[in-house]
Amino acid sequence: MAPSNPQPTTNNPQNKMIRTTIWNEYRHEKKNPKIAEIYPQGMHGAIASALSKDGDLKVRTATLDESEHGLTQDVVDNTDVFVWWGHMHHQDVTDPIVERVYKRIVVGGAGIVVLHSGHFSRIFKRLMGTTCDLKWREANDREILWVTRPGHPVVAGLDDHFILPAEEMYGEYFDIPEPETTFLISSFTGGEVFRSGCTWQRGAGKIVYFRPGHETYPTYHDKNVLKVIHNAVRWAAPNADLKSPTYGNRKTGWIDQAK
Ligand code: ZN
Repeated sequence: MAPSNPQPTTNNPQNKMIRTTIWNEYRHEKKNPKIAEIYPQGMHGAIASALSKDGDLKVRTATLDESEHGLTQDVVDNTDVFVWWGHMHHQDVTDPIVERVYKRIVVGGAGIVVLHSGHFSRIFKRLMGTTCDLKWREANDREILWVTRPGHPVVAGLDDHFILPAEEMYGEYFDIPEPETTFLISSFTGGEVFRSGCTWQRGAGKIVYFRPGHETYPTYHDKNVLKVIHNAVRWAAPNADLKSPTYGNRKTGWIDQAK
């Protein structure tokens, strides 16, 4: 997936490619021919191909049915930002892998971009500490996503709104901790609204939740959706000068140490 001619961008001032691991449950695409038709390479394949184009990300993919769900210690240690899509099989993701990814984010400073039904993933619930429950309806609602934080890097390059002609509805109340930033709010044909773009920091890591992406719609071919995911990966990447914090008993004060 590595692009042949990497070009640094202004959004990546350290001139270092962001090592991005796109994780997908990847079972719907194997079971449902209609979904396979929309995403012949899987949703992770569609996202990976789009995110590879600008040359600022080094993209790999990982899926549930691979050994250790594709998230070996080596892969996790060498990931700056995870992108996470799951739906029907969140419970198949094992404890050690959830813990490994959690530590990499909270202690190691990696970022994570949680997509759509990933709101119920074990890693997102662990990071949020709430039920992450919401209302939903599959009825081809038109979704309008309105920018509520103009100037935030995650919405760079967007107009003040964009439209998805048909999507699954997600409605409030969405049981998440109060976001540090809410950068998109959706409205749906049925009248419901939803906080579709949110950010948090947990420990050293940055977290983005981005709503669209029901598997039966071509949402991950939409240029605005892909732009938000790309922006979110750039924003969630660890700072180049990140140092591990120290903890525990500090026997002398700074003033004594300085003598
Ligand atoms: Zn869905």
